[in-house]
Amino acid sequence: MVGTQRHAEIAGGGLAGLTVATALAQRGWSVRVHERGRELREIGAGIFMWENAVRVLEQIGAADQALARAERVDSWRLYDERQRLIQDDWMKDSTTRLFTVLRTDLHRALADAARDAGVEVRTQSLVVGATPEGELLLDSGEKLAADLVVGADGVGSPVRNSLGLDLAVRDLQDGCGRHLIPRLPSDPVGNTLEYWNHGRRVGIVPVTPDQIYVYLCCPAKDLVGRQKPIDIESWTESFPTLTGVFERIPNESRWASFADVQCHRWIKGNVALVGDAASAMAPNLGQAACLAMTNGFALASVLDEHSDVAAGLEAWETRQRPVTDATQRYSRLYGKVGTRWPRAITDLRSAVIWAAGRSRRWQAKVNVAAHAGADLVDAR
Ligand SMILES: Cc1cc2nc3c(=O)[nH]c(=O)nc-3n(C[C@H](O)[C@H](O)[C@H](O)COP(=O)(O)OP(=O)(O)OC[C@H]3O[C@@H](n4cnc5c(N)ncnc54)[C@H](O)[C@@H]3O)c2cc1C
Repeated sequence: MVGTQRHAEIAGGGLAGLTVATALAQRGWSVRVHERGRELREIGAGIFMWENAVRVLEQIGAADQALARAERVDSWRLYDERQRLIQDDWMKDSTTRLFTVLRTDLHRALADAARDAGVEVRTQSLVVGATPEGELLLDSGEKLAADLVVGADGVGSPVRNSLGLDLAVRDLQDGCGRHLIPRLPSDPVGNTLEYWNHGRRVGIVPVTPDQIYVYLCCPAKDLVGRQKPIDIESWTESFPTLTGVFERIPNESRWASFADVQCHRWIKGNVALVGDAASAMAPNLGQAACLAMTNGFALASVLDEHSDVAAGLEAWETRQRPVTDATQRYSRLYGKVGTRWPRAITDLRSAVIWAAGRSRRWQAKVNVAAHAGADLVDAR
């Protein structure tokens, strides 16, 4: 524990920024979050919260609020183009909790936790960069000095770019539309269903007692699949049993592509990158935000043990990065299998996925973040 009060300036009021801000403030830091938007808000529909993120929510006291309406998911089932069940407990075991949550519920719970912890939030505050010495640079010309600067400013991260930490920021040419539809009694309870047909994937995910989160993924080159509003006929052709789901999708739905961010380092001097700024990945494993929260929480905990911030950041990156790097690698592999597998041999894909599901060792590797990430949270 460090004696005198330290100060942090954080770029970005998303899931990563709010988590790290709350965890720091709860450890006695004075913390200011800069959000470019007019207000703190989250867009999108639902989100998977694995064991590692659930433990972070519990540690910062936001779990009850965030999960109040969430669905506890017992199985994640995967069906192939011939309607065959090829996975029924994808990456799940009895020790791994998985919830599906409305994004707005999660974000609000984190924002409330941040305010309760005394975090100052400055909206309409546009960050343009940072210096390794610990200055946050604003569009207004202000230079704000801090003991710690955090870049939690998403895929485009001006903090990361200004420090030259980016190695590769890629558009994966794969993406999805995310939708909330009314929940019917015939919809799944406690299960997540995913259907694959060549490069198209549909997820059906209960998120609240009266809403289902649906995602429709396809490669960028599938122009019909990306159409707004969705082309019900074309999606029904790919997934004949899901017409009733497609018909409930609202007209305003929008397709957006996935990004993948790799960095040389997550740190420079007194600056750290957290969340998509450091490690965005396609949502194939539902872990990008979970890791953002785990790494954000760990950042505050590790700094608690170091009076020298730069040394603390070194220790934090060394400790946290392997799990995130491995999860990014498996997410990329999953994306390749899901969207780029040759059409002529899709039966082989089904066989490979089925076999992967039978291997506990393989599943544990792919879902290393839920297990190892959770252990890192508890080790604090
Ligand atoms: C379709 C889809 C589904 C997903 N599903 C899951 C899932 O199930 N589970 C999971 O764990 N993850 C999932 N993810 C990933 C998850 O959404 C992200 O990893 C997470 O939201 C990243 O949070 P963040 O705070 O790092 O970044 P962001 O959410 O991008 O937040 C960055 C914040 O910084 C602000 N900002 C940006 N630039 C500036 C600036 N210059 N100045 C000031 N403020 C700025 C932004 O306005 C924003 O509020 C999914 C992603 C997608 C695309």
